[in-house]
Amino acid sequence: MHPIAGGLCTICGERLFSSYALSAAGGEPRCGLCRRLEPAFARAVAYGSYDGGLRELIHLLKYGSVRPAANVLGRMLAEAIARLEADFQTDSMVMVPVPLFRARLRSRQFNQAEMIARAAMKLNPVPGRLRLCEEVLERKRETPSQTGLTRRQRRENVRGAFAVAQPDAVKGREVLVVDDVYTTGATVSECARVLRRAGATKVWVATVARTLKASAQQVEVQLADDAVSVEEFPAAREVPLARAAGS
Ligand SMILES: [Zn+2]
Repeated sequence: MHPIAGGLCTICGERLFSSYALSAAGGEPRCGLCRRLEPAFARAVAYGSYDGGLRELIHLLKYGSVRPAANVLGRMLAEAIARLEADFQTDSMVMVPVPLFRARLRSRQFNQAEMIARAAMKLNPVPGRLRLCEEVLERKRETPSQTGLTRRQRRENVRGAFAVAQPDAVKGREVLVVDDVYTTGATVSECARVLRRAGATKVWVATVARTLKASAQQVEVQLADDAVSVEEFPAAREVPLARAAGS
């Protein structure tokens, strides 16, 4: 479980391969997607790659309800948030965990994004500038599993799934959206879109983990056809813990 190293897209944190990084024409390096369409968020950072031990740890919390895992994940989230600090432009920022739909919350009994956010806040990653507001966003409906969907389908899947329940808390402020995993960014992009519409001046994103492209070849495939999504290769798929552990 190591922090992500190497060349990354300045906007979304996707792994870059030399030919794409170099083609950034003097500006900040951006991946193909972020060059083609400006995301609703200003920048997204993640602590580590969503695989191996880190993926198992997230699954322990989400599917195994091993709550102490949230403390370790919170420390990682705090590190990711600290990396954004230099970009923050105001001193009264609002931190918003991605909410679960009511029914999902009832069955899981906790929102993992909230638990990780609280653990991160205990470490005070951005002293005095960040306030955790858990009720700002509301999930209006359940979104069917994103597994196996293309990037475009994921975007449509989450469209209209979130609402800003407390617009006064975000109006005229910068907002930091936090979640456990960034896959295609469809969920946090939709959160960012509604937050901006409610008056947030900028939206930042920090997650514990992120799926990363594993090879330049996959980048080629994706650029050639956006419908072929990297998230569909098995390593990036969310597998229930029991299966991931091979039992
Ligand atoms: Zn990008």
